[in-house]
Amino acid sequence: MNPNLPTTAGIKLLHTPGPTHVPDLVRNAMSAQPFDLNDPRLGAVVENCERGLQRLLNTAHADVIMYTANGHGAWEAAIVNLLPPGGKVLVAGTGHFSETWAQAAEGCGAHAIRTEARVGAPLDPSLVEAALRADKSHEIIAVFAVQTDTSTGVTSDIQKVRQAIDRAQHPALLVVDVVASLGATPFQMDAWGVNVAIGASQKALMLPPGMSFTAVDEKALNVAHDNRTPRVYWDWTARKSPIGYRKFCGTPPESHLMGLEVSLGLIEREGYDAVFARHARIARAVHAAVERWSEHGALWLMVKDPAARSTSITAIGVREGIDPAEIYTVARERFHIGLAGGLGPHAGKAFRIGHLGDINEAMILGCLSGVDATLRLLNVPIGDGALESAIAVLNKHMSPVW
Ligand SMILES: *Cc1c(COP(=O)(O)O)cnc(C)c1O
Repeated sequence: MNPNLPTTAGIKLLHTPGPTHVPDLVRNAMSAQPFDLNDPRLGAVVENCERGLQRLLNTAHADVIMYTANGHGAWEAAIVNLLPPGGKVLVAGTGHFSETWAQAAEGCGAHAIRTEARVGAPLDPSLVEAALRADKSHEIIAVFAVQTDTSTGVTSDIQKVRQAIDRAQHPALLVVDVVASLGATPFQMDAWGVNVAIGASQKALMLPPGMSFTAVDEKALNVAHDNRTPRVYWDWTARKSPIGYRKFCGTPPESHLMGLEVSLGLIEREGYDAVFARHARIARAVHAAVERWSEHGALWLMVKDPAARSTSITAIGVREGIDPAEIYTVARERFHIGLAGGLGPHAGKAFRIGHLGDINEAMILGCLSGVDATLRLLNVPIGDGALESAIAVLNKHMSPVW
């Protein structure tokens, strides 16, 4: 008997808010042999990725700069390019991801000012405006904002941040983390006055982890050009080169690029509006199921306002005495569903269901059924009818014609 063969049959469902399920077409593209660095086909793949990301971000002019790094790497790129040592950044509070981004800025020597984050609530643009008005000498160089904070699954209105900056008549740049939202909900880089957008491969872009990017407009490039913070790998000015090897500060992540070219193609083939509608429909089904479970007092949705709930991820708080690690371990080992735990202050107090990227109705119903079964096995009181609620929501928003 071959000891390396798996001991379970069937597929595993990956429902974390990153990494996410990778489509077969993307995996196949990533299994191709690498190109030699002078092969014009490699240049074409890079250009297709740059153009595709620009279209998805809705920007005509911003430069896409890609890194062989996870999202934290792209955060650091924005920090060291824009902020001199001691330079001030205003971080709009949304939750664990705004907080850890602020800490990353401080770790690089910048001075981070935070607006208050309320658990499960979107960022408050009036606090951003007040902080900018208080900065009379315009020392704040940038406002950092997270579109979807993956710790609670809250989505903020980015356009309102730009309006707050403009009302305060402040020159600060607007830098937005779209890691968990790009490809799952609309983003309008140019129309919303976003100067830098930051994304990563392993969420709604349907790739494995390991690649990230920044899209940078001219205003931000000029700030970076004048900023003297020492940097090599992340340096945007050096990356502005037609030569692939310079553009990537070394060998490009060729397999990821070949996969990204295909995943962006899949998103365009389905159509942006259809992709966003699919995410919204599936998210509503998840919310309906969790609302039903919550009627019995042991669980709750961390984002109370339905309008602020993300289309990407749902975070579920658990009553004291219930161990989320038990939930995600049983879900994985007994029902073959990959879930995520709580992050930062919510560790040990929540679990999270990812529903972004390569996801459809069958997958989310499988996931919700597996979670329902897990909760029953662990004697968490959830009552009956969650699955029926999810199905009712899916069918309500489903066209019977195909
Ligand atoms: C996942 C995530 C990150 C961090 O990405 P890594 O690839 O894990 O470094 C940053 N911001 C948001 C909103 C995320 O969801």
